[in-house]
Parts: sequence; structure tokens; C-alpha cells
Amino acid sequence: MHVNSCNSLDFHDVAVVGAGPAGCEASLAAAAAGASTICLTINLDAVALHPANPVLVDGTGDPRMRLLEELHGAGAALPGLLKEPGASIESGARTVIDRRVLGLAYKERLESANGLSPRQSLVTSISPGKGIWNVATSLGETFRAAAVVVAAGTYLNGVVTAGGVSTPGGRHGDIPANALACCIKSLGIAMERTTATSYPRLDSRSVDNAGDGLVPPDEAVLGELYGSDVDVDGNGAAALKQLRRRGGYSEGWITRLGYTVHHHILTADQVDPTLQALRQSGLFFAGKAAGSCNYTEAAALGFVAGKNAAALATGEADIKLTTNHIFITKLCRAVSRQQSRPVTIRIPPPGC
Ligand SMILES: Cc1cc2nc3c(=O)[nH]c(=O)nc-3n(C[C@H](O)[C@H](O)[C@H](O)COP(=O)(O)OP(=O)(O)OC[C@H]3O[C@@H](n4cnc5c(N)ncnc54)[C@H](O)[C@@H]3O)c2cc1C
Repeated sequence: MHVNSCNSLDFHDVAVVGAGPAGCEASLAAAAAGASTICLTINLDAVALHPANPVLVDGTGDPRMRLLEELHGAGAALPGLLKEPGASIESGARTVIDRRVLGLAYKERLESANGLSPRQSLVTSISPGKGIWNVATSLGETFRAAAVVVAAGTYLNGVVTAGGVSTPGGRHGDIPANALACCIKSLGIAMERTTATSYPRLDSRSVDNAGDGLVPPDEAVLGELYGSDVDVDGNGAAALKQLRRRGGYSEGWITRLGYTVHHHILTADQVDPTLQALRQSGLFFAGKAAGSCNYTEAAALGFVAGKNAAALATGEADIKLTTNHIFITKLCRAVSRQQSRPVTIRIPPPGC
């Protein structure tokens, strides 16, 4: 049976910052490659807890479907987790993920993987020493690691705008990672500002006709309904008024306002296609913080970064991307070089 090592040892081969899909995949991939791994995340009760129930597959032609197939072949966790009971609901050509079920499944994987130690901590700085990285947290701990993967999602200098009010936050209700963002900048790594938006959610009992195009009917089976095309930046009363002008929504009731997260991501030319920082050996980036768009892509980048970080730390061979990994390769190259950000392979960027 695996015994967690991080409570007695402060050195790990790989330290992963974040436990969204990118951080989870990075941690699992590094540990599976034989690297002792610590995964530091703000809240262990919110592992891989997506802000909304994501629609991952829009049809067989969707590159995300191909990405999932490639990840399955490569040994990433996400494709298998999506098959766990209740994790995904198929509706026509779409697959809607139950974020709570998927999050718990990822958490269980983190907790049961050999050589992997999950830890609840806010990372405030990462600094290079002699062939080693020091990873400091807000609780005064410092962990040392041969390689670090930063998978901090939308939290770097995050500001959440909801109901016309802006407050610091990684997502709605979460704290931001401001000290870490500052530290990354001080390491000579360039970042730029971007946004991610979540539409309001509605009480399904208040909606007469959930299928009129405003609220996708397949998401109704997961509890709250999602009200797309409703202003997310204005105040709550304005959003409700806008919603109630639509047919079938005269009694519509918003349970959670929509919101926008403004946050930092890497600019182009900061990492190579292995996702290692060009200016800092042993420092890798993955997921939204590296510049990807969606959940599947974040998972793919995490998987690659985790494998490569483990290879660097242990001296084993790094991941070999072959013709079986066309979409994974495209994504890594785009995150490395593509100027327009965030990056997605859903509409293939030019030159990839
Ligand atoms: C509002 C919103 C709606 C979205 N809707 C969709 C959608 O419908 N479909 C879709 O595919 N994608 C959607 N996305 C994008 C999707 O959420 C991201 O692409 C995906 O979650 C990115 O995964 P990640 O692992 O990179 O980051 P995240 O999932 O954001 O995870 C980041 C992790 O890092 C941790 N962390 C951050 N800073 C620190 C620190 N300093 N120390 C320790 N831990 C830290 C956090 O606690 C968290 O665990 C949405 C994003 C947002 C914000």
C-alpha cells in the first residue's frame, strides 16, 4: 500500500501547483512515470471541480473527441473517468459532464495513486535553487522539487466581475493567486490578460420551456439550467429583466449570476512544445495558465507536462509524441508558439 511521503519529506521529484484537470493529469502522469510527486492545491474539496458542467463533445468531427481518443491511447486519466457511472450524460451528439462526479473521481485517483501526495496549500512562490526548485506556501511551508508544473488555471491575478461588481478571485467564491503570478513574472516569464465567462444558472422550476434554445435541454438533467446569451457583466436585476423578456422565461429565477474571470496566462514563446519554460529549466506550465481554452485541452497539456517533468526529474525518457498523437502535438505547439491566445484546437489555428 502506498504511504504518503510529503508529511515526512520535503523533497519530491515533481511538484504540481493546482488540481484542476491539468494539475490532476500532470500529477497522475508524473507519479505513473515513477516520480515522487506532490500536488498542491488551494482546496482539496474542490479537486477538478469545473465551474460549470462542461459539454465536451459536440459531434464526431470535434477535435476534442480526437484529443480524448489520443489521451486514452497515451494513458491519461480523463477518458476513463468520463466512463465512470454518472460522470457523463449523452444527449444526441453532445456529452454533458457532471462536474461533481468527475471531480470526485479525479480526487479519488489522486488519493490512491502510488507515489503521489495531494496537499491543500496556496503556493505563493516558486524559486530556483541549485538544480532544485523551492515551492513556498502561504502556510510557511517550503517543498523542494527537481521539477515544477504550474497548472494554476484562471487564478493568476484573478479578478471576478459578477453583478457589476469586481473582486479579487480565481473563480466565483475562490481566492486568487496573486503572489504566485508576481513570482512567475519575476522569473522573466511573460503573461497577458484574458477572460473566461460563465453564464447565469436558473431554477428549472421557474422556466416554462427549457428547450427553446436559450437553455440547452440536455443540461436540465443535471439540475440547474444554464442561461446562455444573458449579459454577465451587468447587475442581477438587469440580467433577470433581460431573461424575462424571452418567451417561456417570464417567471425565470436566477440561482447564480453569471460572471467573468479576468486573469493572466502565458504569452506565446514562453514554453517549448514539451511545455518547459524557455528561460527556466525544470519549470513547466499546463492548462489554462499555459494558454489553453477548455477542459479537455487542459487535461492534455497537464498529461504532457507531467510526463516531461517526471522525465527531467528522474532521468527517464520523456514522452514521445508520435503520429498517434497528432492533436496533442498540435496543441502543445500552439501553446508554445501561437500569438493569438487563448489557444484551442477546436478551430485549428493557422500553421499548426
Ligand atoms: C467561468 C468559467 C466557465 C468555463 N466553462 C467551460 C466549459 O463550459 N467547457 C470547458 O471545456 N471549459 C470551460 N471553462 C474552461 C475550463 O474551466 C478550463 O479550461 C479548465 O478548468 C482549465 O483547467 P486547469 O486545470 O488549467 O485550471 P482550473 O480548472 O482552473 O484549476 C486550477 C487549479 O489550480 C489551483 N490553484 C490556483 N492557484 C494556486 C496556487 N497558487 N496554489 C495552489 N493551487 C492553486 C486551483 O485551486 C485549482 O485547483 C470555463 C472556465 C471558467 C473560468
